[in-house]
Amino acid sequence: MATIPNLQNYIGGRWVPPVNSTYEDVPNPATGEVIARVPLSSKEDLQAAVAAARSSFEAWRDTPVPKRARILFAYQQLLVSHWEELARLITQENGKSYTEAYGEVQRGIECVEFAAGAPTLMMGSQLPDIATGIESGMYRYPLGIVAGITPFNFPMMVPCWMFPLAIACGNAFILKPSERTPLLANRLAELLTEAGLPAGVFSIVHGAREIVNGMIEHPDIQAISFVGSQPVAEHVYRSAAAEGKRVQALAGAKNHSIVLPDADLDLAVSNIINAAFGSAGERCMACAVVVAVGAIAEPLIQKLKEASERIKIGNGLEPDVFLGPVIRSSHKERTLNYIEAGVQEGASLVVDGRCAVQTQESGYFVGPTIFDRVQTDMKIWQEEIFAPVLSVVRADTLEEAIHIANRSEFANGACLYTDSAKAIRQFRDRIDAGMLGVNVGVPAPMAFFPFSGYKKSFYGDLHANGRDGVEFYTRKKMMTARY
Ligand code: NAD
Repeated sequence: MATIPNLQNYIGGRWVPPVNSTYEDVPNPATGEVIARVPLSSKEDLQAAVAAARSSFEAWRDTPVPKRARILFAYQQLLVSHWEELARLITQENGKSYTEAYGEVQRGIECVEFAAGAPTLMMGSQLPDIATGIESGMYRYPLGIVAGITPFNFPMMVPCWMFPLAIACGNAFILKPSERTPLLANRLAELLTEAGLPAGVFSIVHGAREIVNGMIEHPDIQAISFVGSQPVAEHVYRSAAAEGKRVQALAGAKNHSIVLPDADLDLAVSNIINAAFGSAGERCMACAVVVAVGAIAEPLIQKLKEASERIKIGNGLEPDVFLGPVIRSSHKERTLNYIEAGVQEGASLVVDGRCAVQTQESGYFVGPTIFDRVQTDMKIWQEEIFAPVLSVVRADTLEEAIHIANRSEFANGACLYTDSAKAIRQFRDRIDAGMLGVNVGVPAPMAFFPFSGYKKSFYGDLHANGRDGVEFYTRKKMMTARY
C-alpha cells in the first residue's frame, strides 16, 4: 500500500514541516481514498513565512521589471510542459473531469502570460510641463507582502489570478490554498522555483481559519486577495479592512440564464447543460437558474431533461465522464437536503439526481438535478447550492425575467440566449451582474479583463485580474519636480 504523504509548507524556498500542527485527510472525492494529509498550520508557521517574505522583498522590489517578467516567461513554459500532470492532479483532488481540469490549467497559464507583460503594466505616466519648468509624474511601486486565500473549486486558476501578477509587480506573496485541494498549489511552488524565482518571494502556508485570521491580523501583510464563499468573503473584507489592509474578496453566486422564445434551442441547451452540471456545478460562474420566457419553456425543459439523462457520471479521469463527484460527503449531504427542500417547497422535480447516488459504490456523487416551476420565495432559488442542481423559473417577458434575476442578492454572472439586438441591449443595460454572456454559457473573462461581480458576489473596489489587478498590487507615487 502506498504511504500517504503529510504535506509541508513552502517557506523561504524549501519544504518546511509545520510547527505543532494537526493534519486533515485529503480524499480523492471520486473514490474516497485518502491521497494526502494537509497540515492545519499555526500562526507560528505564518510568522516564518512572513519573515521569509520580508527578507526577500527588498531585493525582489529592486529587481528590474523585465527580469521579473523573464522568470514568468520561464514559468509559463514549465506550466505548458507539465500541463497533463497538473490537470490530472486537479481531477484527483477536486473531482472535476480531466477535460475541465485541462481547461483550468489553460486559464491559469493565461494569467501568467498576462502578468509577464509587467514592464508595460507597471508603467506610470508623466506630464513634462504642469507649469513653466515644472513636471509631474506617476510611478508605480509594489505594496510589500501580500496574501492570497483560495477556494477548493479552482485549485490552479484562482491562485493564478493572484500570485503571478502580485510577484510581477514586485511584491512577496503568501498563499493559503484551500485545505480541501492543497496538492496542486505545491506543484505550482516547485515549478516557480525551477523557473528561477528567488527564495521567499512566494510561500505557501497550508491551513484553515487560524491562518486566514493570522493573515488578517498580521501588521506586515499589506493586502489580502480572497476568493470563496459569501460569509467568509464578508468576514475577510470587514476584518482586514478594519486592520487597514487593502482587500479584494470575491464571493458566492447564483447566476441566471434567460432564454427568449427566439433562442437557438439546441445551442442554449448544450450551453446550459455545460454551465449547470460541468465541474459538478461547483463554479462561481455556474448556471444555477434558467428563466424560460414564454412558449419556449416546454421544449426547453424537455430537451434539458433528455440531455441530462445522457450525461456520463463517474471518476473524471475516465474517458467521456462529464460529471464527477462533489468535493466532500458533507457537501453531498447538503445538496441532497436542498433537493429535498425543493420538493417540500413545491417545485416540480423533473430530473432527480438522487437516483445517480444509488448507482455509485464510492465517492461523493450527485446526479444532474432539474427543478421546474421554481419560485423566488423558495430556498433553492435564494441560496447558492454549488452542486449540479438547476432551477427553472418561468416568465412572460424579458423585462419580467430580468426583474427575477435582479432580485437575487448575488450579482456575479448572467446569460441571455437570443438573436435580438434590442433584447441584448436591454439585458446589458438592466441586468444586475458583472459578467454577461450572450449565447455563451460560462462568460468568465480572460486574464486581461477584471473578474467583476458585485452585490454579495464581491467585496472591495478593485477586482481580480486585468488593470484592476495591477492597481490592486501596486501603490502609486506622484512626483512634482522643478529643475
Ligand atoms: P470557503 O469560503 O469555504 O473557503 C475559501 C477559503 O476560506 C479557504 O481557503 C478556507 O480555508 C477559508 N475559510 C473557510 N472558512 C473560513 C472561516 N470560517 N474563517 C476564515 N477562513 C475560512 O469556500 P469554498 O467552499 O472553498 O469555495 C466555494 C465558494 O467560493 C463558492 O461560494 C463559490 O461561489 C466561491 N467562488 C467565488 C468565485 C468568484 O470569482 N466570485 C470564484 C471561485 C469560487
